[in-house]
Amino acid sequence: MSRAGRGSARAALAVAAVLGIALVVVIALRTPWQLLPEPPGGFTPVDPTAGLSAEQVDRAESFAAALRPASLTSLVLGLAVSAVLGLTPLGARLVTAVARPLGGRRAAQILLGVVALVVVGRLVTLPIGAYAEVVRHRYGLSTRTWGLWVRDVAVSAAISAVITALALTAVLWLIRRAPRMWWAWAAGTAAGFVVVASFLYPLVIEPAFNRIEPLPAGELRTDLLALADRSGVPVQDVLVSDASRRTTALNAYVSGFGGTRRIVVYDTVLDQLPDEEIESIVAHELGHVVNGDVLTGTLTGALGAAAATAMFGWLLSWTPLLRRAGAEAPGDPRALPLILFLLAAGGLVGTPVQNLVSRQIEARADLHALDLTGDAEAFVSMQRRLASTNLSDPDPPVAWQWFFGSHPTAAQRVAFAEDWSRDRG
Ligand SMILES: [Zn+2]
Repeated sequence: MSRAGRGSARAALAVAAVLGIALVVVIALRTPWQLLPEPPGGFTPVDPTAGLSAEQVDRAESFAAALRPASLTSLVLGLAVSAVLGLTPLGARLVTAVARPLGGRRAAQILLGVVALVVVGRLVTLPIGAYAEVVRHRYGLSTRTWGLWVRDVAVSAAISAVITALALTAVLWLIRRAPRMWWAWAAGTAAGFVVVASFLYPLVIEPAFNRIEPLPAGELRTDLLALADRSGVPVQDVLVSDASRRTTALNAYVSGFGGTRRIVVYDTVLDQLPDEEIESIVAHELGHVVNGDVLTGTLTGALGAAAATAMFGWLLSWTPLLRRAGAEAPGDPRALPLILFLLAAGGLVGTPVQNLVSRQIEARADLHALDLTGDAEAFVSMQRRLASTNLSDPDPPVAWQWFFGSHPTAAQRVAFAEDWSRDRG
């Protein structure tokens, strides 16, 4: 490597380190680590059943026992295939092979190569995905027809292939235009991309899967908008998604920010829950709005994407790694499988960090729901209903929860409501 090349690689590593430290500082300062003061005599001990009946706990546990090995296998297999394609010349051969019928031009290698790599990645885990769907059907959680399942898998693979192909085309173009400082441009672009994607998600991705309509006028709608009013936050609308086409699960979420911000409630929630529990769910979602969680998530995501891109800039300057992947330079389309492997590995490392923060943010939204409604009883019965309907293990293994848990466990949320009642008298 030339002296200038070595200098640029060192700069990429330094920038990655600085952005990484900034990310840790932002997370440490912005995450609500403690939400309630510790009461005299300590916090309420967590009841592992969350107050569910033995039968409900058994059912959730046997569901988890059937699904967890499949989820883990899918994760490991996906990463292993990505590693084989990215760390041996196999992926590079695939990229050249798919572009050959079109004359093997660079643009064809990039576009068709990325599509082929995404499709191969999806195909190897497809049987496990189908098995998981069989399990969800057997337990009555999935209501999807197989036709709809195939459509969902195809649409999500197509969206992922198109977005990845566009993003990597831009990256390879940058590498050609700015061979030494491309990673700096790419880091800025990746950060901007996270922000744009967060805006576009409710407008483009959501409608590709669900029909979403305003909650019809009536007492419930009036009550929910009054809750939003009392929270002091402008909400564009309360919407209902036709989730029952796919699942019996109960859920709600908030997406978008500014003028696109909306609270979306599954139609299953409206069908099955009494009004005070629906209000508790919506009050939790309002908590996310009040605390600006979508914005915080977007900004930390953008910082993380920039840090990871600078890190990739350093890794891709390392000639032995490129050679191993069968590529000659970072801008070579044959480096694409390696880049996709680095993305997958980065995602794996990022998951537990993201979930660590997410659990605290979710607990803060729970606190808002309790403060806003003042109704711990409805909150607790809603948590139990969610756990038993969604078949979520109220007290999963610690390591599982640490890695995959985006929310506190049902058992923890019930204990939290108890602490809240004691604290607020
Ligand atoms: Zn939430």
